[in-house]
Amino acid sequence: MIRAVFPGTFDPITLGHEALIHRASDLFDEIIVAVAAGVHKQAIFSLEERLQMAEKSCGKKNVRVMSFEGLLADFLRDHQCRIILRGLRAVSDFEFESQLAHVNKTLDGNLETLFLPPNNEYIHLSSTMVREVALLGGDVRKFVSTHVAAALLQKISPPCR
Ligand code: ADP
Repeated sequence: MIRAVFPGTFDPITLGHEALIHRASDLFDEIIVAVAAGVHKQAIFSLEERLQMAEKSCGKKNVRVMSFEGLLADFLRDHQCRIILRGLRAVSDFEFESQLAHVNKTLDGNLETLFLPPNNEYIHLSSTMVREVALLGGDVRKFVSTHVAAALLQKISPPCR
């Protein structure tokens, strides 16, 4: 049973995340999408909302959505998992991602971080960008699932609409 954890803020989950989860679910027996409870960045969606959106987006049998708090290394140990899955979009992601992988490896030598490249069409897609577009009243339906676009519309009242 090979299980991988895909951690993130998912504020909100985008089509880029969904495509990566879909591909990973064919590679591993089980994927745990781990939604971070304590967010260092300012999240616009609550943990409950981010979990609900991720659950709606991840329909596959071998994908579980869970929240996690505290150290990712502890979460992996608690769930008998040693693989951390991360997306690596551009060179700009690399420095942070390699630091994170190094810290997790130092905390627990048993852990391995695996990087998957995004689907080409989502290489420049980030939750931050989606939030910005939504805040400015733009159409986000090319970037997120319909239910996420609806949630964004509800959350954000556009300045000029
Ligand atoms: P974090 O807050 O930890 O940066 P995010 O929720 O932004 O987490 O992203 C979680 C993971 O999904 C990260 O590994 C990130 O690189 C990856 N990711 C984000 N956007 C995309 C995308 N468009 N395609 C593939 N992977 C992505």
